[in-house]
Amino acid sequence: MTEFVITPPDAPSVAVAGSQVRFPVRRIFCVGRNYAAHAREMGKDPDREPPFFFTKPADAVVDDNATIAYPPETKNFHYEAELVVAIGKGGINISEADALDHVWGYAIGNDLTRRDLQAAAKEMGRPWDWGKAFDNSAVCGPVHPVENVGHLQEGMIRLSVNGEVKQDADLNEMIWSIPEQIAILSRTMAVKPGDLIYSGTPAGVGALEVDDVCLIEIVGLGGVTTTIGERG
Ligand code: MN
Repeated sequence: MTEFVITPPDAPSVAVAGSQVRFPVRRIFCVGRNYAAHAREMGKDPDREPPFFFTKPADAVVDDNATIAYPPETKNFHYEAELVVAIGKGGINISEADALDHVWGYAIGNDLTRRDLQAAAKEMGRPWDWGKAFDNSAVCGPVHPVENVGHLQEGMIRLSVNGEVKQDADLNEMIWSIPEQIAILSRTMAVKPGDLIYSGTPAGVGALEVDDVCLIEIVGLGGVTTTIGERG
């Protein structure tokens, strides 16, 4: 039994649909600009340049139905609806053909973003962490096991704020598919059980304000609701 000089933190985790048992979160990888229309709205050419990833800390995860404080140091706090892939089996140099065997399940995610801090970082050639990897920045609804929902490759992904639809796309509009994302990520570092991959957001990103209620729906996964509370 390892002894620690201070109390070690609880292991970050997300819910599992229909279960009291939770999914442990090891790392959070996020794919940037993975829908062509969103790449265009961010001022980028959506040609098929290789995908890139950024990360969030595992303890940034937030369950469905949470109220989260409007985060500090931003005046442009954005939602991003995303399909989340929960990895159950690790590997390196995973082939596209084998990639889906590494998926334990799928969830609805919201890649919350301090867009003004991200834009400033881009401008100055600095890391994106302050724009992307802050406290409570990774909403993740219950993980639905593959054995219940199969593999999600097409169908509705939609986000609304206070009942008004803001993002409405199809999962088949991803530039890089889920098997491609897993294969490419695993060439750079070992993919491990408990890793989450946020697979990119469609066009229509925009701001959240205090008291907003944000609902994301994905085919087969139901909905995930997040309420924005007072400034933290
Ligand atoms: Mn994103």
